Amino acid sequence: MLKMAQQKAALSFELVAKCSVTRARASTMILPHGPVELPMFMPVATQASLKGLTPEQLESLGCRLCLNNTYHLGLKPGQATLDAVGGAHRLQSWNHNILTDSGGFQMVSLLKLAKITEEGVRFLSPHDGSPMLLTPEHSMSLQNSIGSDIMMQLDDVIATTSPDKDRMVEAMHRSVRWLDRCIEAHKYPEKQNLFCIIQGGLDLDLRRECVKEMVKRDTPGIAIGGLSGGEEKAKYCAVVRTCTEMLPDMKPRYVMGVGYPEDLVVSVALGADMFDCVWPTRTARFGNAVTSKGTLNLRHASYAADFTPVDEDCGCPCCRPEEAGGLGITKAYIHHLTGKETAGAHVLTMHNVYYLLDLMRKARMAIIAGTYPDFVKEFFGKIYSYDKAEYPVWAVDALKTVGVDLTET
Ligand SMILES: [Zn+2]
Repeated sequence: MLKMAQQKAALSFELVAKCSVTRARASTMILPHGPVELPMFMPVATQASLKGLTPEQLESLGCRLCLNNTYHLGLKPGQATLDAVGGAHRLQSWNHNILTDSGGFQMVSLLKLAKITEEGVRFLSPHDGSPMLLTPEHSMSLQNSIGSDIMMQLDDVIATTSPDKDRMVEAMHRSVRWLDRCIEAHKYPEKQNLFCIIQGGLDLDLRRECVKEMVKRDTPGIAIGGLSGGEEKAKYCAVVRTCTEMLPDMKPRYVMGVGYPEDLVVSVALGADMFDCVWPTRTARFGNAVTSKGTLNLRHASYAADFTPVDEDCGCPCCRPEEAGGLGITKAYIHHLTGKETAGAHVLTMHNVYYLLDLMRKARMAIIAGTYPDFVKEFFGKIYSYDKAEYPVWAVDALKTVGVDLTET
């Protein structure tokens, strides 16, 4: 029997503007812990903490929705502690929204011995090696204890680069069956939103079939999953475009695991609204600054005497000059700190997260102003110093399919 999730949604969605050229949308999604503006980037706070940042700092950057990992929280502090404290918002003193993954992807990617059967994901406990099982019901129960504003269904996710077609078909159908079990097991649909996840690898027909099945279940939001696993960018874009073409206008669309600025800007043009990725925070710990002129490795000796801000176009507390109430931190200072002092990683994490949040805020303003195609052109122009020969072919091709020609003068 078809399970319907929508009757009791804890989310309302307002479409504010649509780009008249591309498929970009600006919208507002009202969640239990307040409204969020889309398109948006969601930073990943794995263990209920963004490495190097306090909840106050994350809030000051303008973040109103961040990710927690169910797998990590389920292991530690564990479900009993989460229930005792009243969920993850209280645990981390975060009064804004939280999205949690199902826990499945982390298991499959972290634990080599994980085995997937119709029942769920079987694995050995990383603590004591005892056999454990994550089922759709268990994932829902954990996410209900966490109290996340958006919960993700347990899905059968395999690498898009897998050559095993039969396995890909099986995973897609199983993900639909597991969604039904998740809907059935979800205890609080009136206060937590369950999102479905579209699977189907790089096979566009399989993706279309999955979209049809998932949309029927009427969940409050829809994710496109299984991407960002090393597939060719052109194929990634084809999947996103194929899915958004069929998705209802009035639901948020989340493309999972995407965080490179160029991927975000192109995916928004293809009609996606939400993104998450550990890359901006992880790469900060290696001295990499994500900027409007591309990614800079500040460990490079050339920055030793560079007394300009990390990004002159950035308004984050780290880049903003002291006169404007910021820290006025220079590339030279981060170069000096990085690798030696955790403070270097800390300020860069702050900058990188702010950069991506702000990129999406600016994209939203451009969509509302009706200037998104110009925004896209300026964005690529700045990164590649307007040298069109340097523009990535996949981005040029993908943008052409939605009416933006980056090569045109
Ligand atoms: Zn900055």
